[in-house]
Amino acid sequence: LEEQLRQMQKMEVIGRFTGGIAHDFNNYLTAITGFSQLALMQIDNNHPARRNIENVVNSAEKASVLTRQLLAFSRRQVMQPQVVNLNTIVIDMTKIIKRIIGEDIQLRTVLDPDLWNVRVDPGQIEQVIMNLVSNARDAMPNGGMLTIQTTNALLDEEYAKRHVSVIPGNYVMIAVEDTGVGMTEDIKSHIFEPFFTTKELGKGTGLGLATVYGIIKQSGGNIWVYSEPGQGTIFKIYLPKSEEKVTSYVTTERIDTIPSG
Ligand code: ADP
Repeated sequence: LEEQLRQMQKMEVIGRFTGGIAHDFNNYLTAITGFSQLALMQIDNNHPARRNIENVVNSAEKASVLTRQLLAFSRRQVMQPQVVNLNTIVIDMTKIIKRIIGEDIQLRTVLDPDLWNVRVDPGQIEQVIMNLVSNARDAMPNGGMLTIQTTNALLDEEYAKRHVSVIPGNYVMIAVEDTGVGMTEDIKSHIFEPFFTTKELGKGTGLGLATVYGIIKQSGGNIWVYSEPGQGTIFKIYLPKSEEKVTSYVTTERIDTIPSG
């Protein structure tokens, strides 16, 4: 619990710090990207400066992916919780998930037809799923199977005794599982820390799982990871059941927040 508190405080400080910088930086980047793309259109294909400008465009794009992640991580945005069914979110995201994982990875969804509702910010939960799916893809460079599962779960007193931060009750579980490279104990103990990454420069920021962790905690949920090197990884998220009926929610927002490719 103490460890968790320390983690939250650390994220709070880093979040506030990076958020301010990322926001200003993003404005400059917009100018860099815009003007360099414009310049690219204004010069001939065989102009000697063309390669250089292309490099500027490419680097600026990488930088804006990074700042976008920083912003998402640090955003002290007010949560906009709505009553939703996670099955709906998963089904709505199928197309984009398939685009992220490509053709060598198979997608399997196992959705509980009687799934309870949860009260969460749907946009945030989409972001959580996107981050877990992107990581799963990176863990399966030679293909494999991605499984997304939902189910109702009763976490009883017994369970709560074994898991310090859990309040006993009814939960909805969503699991994202891959058959990828897995993690060592050492890596596993750091994954929720901001800026922890094992990926090469430009590929990973180490903010994905820190963001996921923050969102799940903010939503009153819990997240666990099970992983063995060479065996694959499963992330299990528990969100408290809501007794309310689903309120319709807008899905258009996600379209322009999804990275392409
Ligand atoms: P990033 O993806 O930018 O590295 P994350 O916070 O999302 O940042 O992940 C941190 C690290 O956790 C990754 O660099 C990787 O080592 C490990 N990791 C996360 N998800 C998985 C997974 N599904 N399989 C194996 N390793 C993973």
